[in-house]
Parts: sequence; structure tokens; C-alpha cells
Amino acid sequence: MSSVLSVWARNIAPSPTLAVDAKAKKLAAEGKDVCGFGVGEPDFDTPQFVKDACVKALSEGKTKYAPTPGIPPLRKAIAEHYTARGFAGIGEGQVVVSPGGKMSCYLAILATVSPGDEVIVPAPYWVSYPEMVKLAGGTTKFVLAEDTNGFKITPEQLKSAITPKTKLLVLNSPSNPTGAIYSPEELKVLVEIACQAGLLVMSDEIYEHLVYDGCKSSSPATLCPQFAEKIITVSGFAKTYSMTGWRLGTLVTANKAIAKVVSDLQSQMSSNATTFAQWGALAVYTQPEKAAASLAEMSVAFDRRRKALHAKLNAIPGLSCFRSQAAFYLFPNIKAFGIPSQEFASRLLDEELVAVVPGSAFGAEGYIRLSYATSDETIDKGVERLARFCAKLLAEKKA
Ligand code: GLU
Repeated sequence: MSSVLSVWARNIAPSPTLAVDAKAKKLAAEGKDVCGFGVGEPDFDTPQFVKDACVKALSEGKTKYAPTPGIPPLRKAIAEHYTARGFAGIGEGQVVVSPGGKMSCYLAILATVSPGDEVIVPAPYWVSYPEMVKLAGGTTKFVLAEDTNGFKITPEQLKSAITPKTKLLVLNSPSNPTGAIYSPEELKVLVEIACQAGLLVMSDEIYEHLVYDGCKSSSPATLCPQFAEKIITVSGFAKTYSMTGWRLGTLVTANKAIAKVVSDLQSQMSSNATTFAQWGALAVYTQPEKAAASLAEMSVAFDRRRKALHAKLNAIPGLSCFRSQAAFYLFPNIKAFGIPSQEFASRLLDEELVAVVPGSAFGAEGYIRLSYATSDETIDKGVERLARFCAKLLAEKKA
């Protein structure tokens, strides 16, 4: 008898980052004092000037369908922004605004990957890429980057992962979950290898503005303009402007055919990103000083927490943590405790009420992910509990 559920439904795994968040929120709702390092979501409110622009749009009746790829002034502003950054061939027609960066990634994959195609995904990877590839009928080929190499893949690793079936390389610098960031030179080499081999590149740059220690994030499309038609750049408003719930992702590509298909797919799947949310987001471009000030305020806090959390984690016997320079994640190595990351994370939540995401969710056993987009108090209290838990594990191991 055939299953009630489709093959897609039976093969899809729910998002583990959102699952950890749901469990932590449930415990908190029951009155438990949970320290949440789980979901990657800025703990700042959306800037007031963005909210004001959205409220104005609502009161002006901007509550109807918008054009599928986005409201014209927002697409224009995004195209101008990327052009000013050195992207070639990005007019309004090459911009698609979608309901969330996640949707932008998914549409990019659906637009380019056919059943049987292989997609190269460097691991540790963001949890949703492999599931999106699966839904497109493709196969993911993982290339593992360890902390010993700064969580970056090497050109040799990339070369040996490419087969005649490879269609797409997914890049995510700055990275979720490691916070690693490729230098322009490193990124350029990888993009050249991929594009010269005929691959397309999807560059997920959602954390592009959250960089520290004087680092700057770079884009494949500006590093390798000769391959602009092969590159799809995804970003969004969620992380930079603390607009996670607004669900607004952006996709730009010099490849007109891809931009059109992404929009066509969206026309069948969601029509458009929420109209008044787009009018709110437009304020980021029309009021750039305010946008820069809110980003600066948030970045200063994240940087302070990054340094504090990194030092505290490395002071815990058995833990070792790579010093990431971007996003808002740290990805410490827990191999010394000798238990799987899933067990580590669920015991940590049950026994100490500290929420983290197991490395296995990101294709990297032996690590856990902590988001420091959380308060200084949570960091202090949570690390104290984590240290107690780690000491207990070491004692258990010895016994
Ligand atoms: N991207 C964030 C995270 O990794 C939000 C949850 C999700 O979409 O995975 O925690």
C-alpha cells in the first residue's frame, strides 16, 4: 500500500535549529530559567525607523499583492546598492525579494538543480541546504572543513569533490554555524575552480555585515566578475537589521534567465513577500544613516559578547573553541568528552537548562553551536552551567 505521505515528506527532516528553539521556548513558558544559545536570532528589536515605515505603509493601505519579485522602489534600491558595491549587470530586473533568506536559497536551488545533479556543500553547513537540495531531487556532496583549518575548505578538497554531475557549489561566508569568514583571496580561488569547471555558485551572504576584528566580507560576484552570470547572491534583512520575523530575503544575479525563473517559481509558491514589510525594509536604503547607526550598535554588542564567550569557553577544561570573526556563532569542539553532540546538547538542556545546537545538525560531529545573539547575563550564567556540565562529563568519563 502506498504511503499517505509523499516521498518528499518522508525524506525531509525538520529544521533542528528551530526545533531547539521551540524546546527552549516551551521550557521557558513552563517557568524554567533557560539560557538560550540555540537559534540564531538577534536579541535586538527591529530599528524604530523601519517599524515606522511599515506602519505608515499599513495606514496608507499598502496591504495588497505586490509585484511577484518585489515592490519596484525596493528592487531599485537593492540593485543600486549592489551596483555601488561593484556587482556587474544588476538592474532591477535581476533582483528578487522573497519571504525570507531561506526562501531565496530554496528558490535559487530549485531554479538550478535537477534530479540527479550534485551540489557541493562545505560542512559544517547551515541545516537547510541539504534538505533543499533533496527537495529539488539533487544529491549533496559534503566537503568537511575542520577547526584545524579555520573551518574552511581547501582548493584541493573542492577539486576532488567535483564530478561530471556537479551543478552547484554553495558558499556561505561568513558561515553559519562556525562564524568563519574566507579572505577575498581564498574565496576567489574556490569560485574560479568551480566556475571554470562549469558549476554555478550560490553565495549565501546573510551574515555579510556582522564582521569583527576589522574583517570585511567579500562576494564571489565582485571577486570574479567574468563569471557573474554563474553566480547567485543571496542575503536579506533578518540578521543585519534584526528583522527575522519580517521574512524578507533578497536574491540578485546577473543571469537574467535565473532571475526570471526564480520570480516565476515564486509566483506559483508565495506570490510575493509581504507588501508592507517590503515598504518597511525600504527605509534601510532611504535612511542609510539610521540603518548604519543601528547596525553599529548591534555589532558592538555582538563583538563584546563574542570575545567574552570565546574566552570563557576556552577556559572550560575539555572544550576548545576556534576564534570566529563573523556572524554571531561560536562552534566549540567537544570531542574530549567522548559523547555524540546530540546527546551532549540534549543532556545539557535537560540537566542544566542550557540550549545549544548539536554539531551533527550541521554535518559536523564533535562540536556544538552557541549563538551569542543573547544577553550578557545569559552568557555569564549559561557558561557557568556549561562548565559544571563539562566537569560532570569528564568525571563520568574517568569513573
Ligand atoms: N538561521 C538561523 C539559525 O541557524 C535561524 C533558524 C534557521 O532558519 O535555521 O539558527
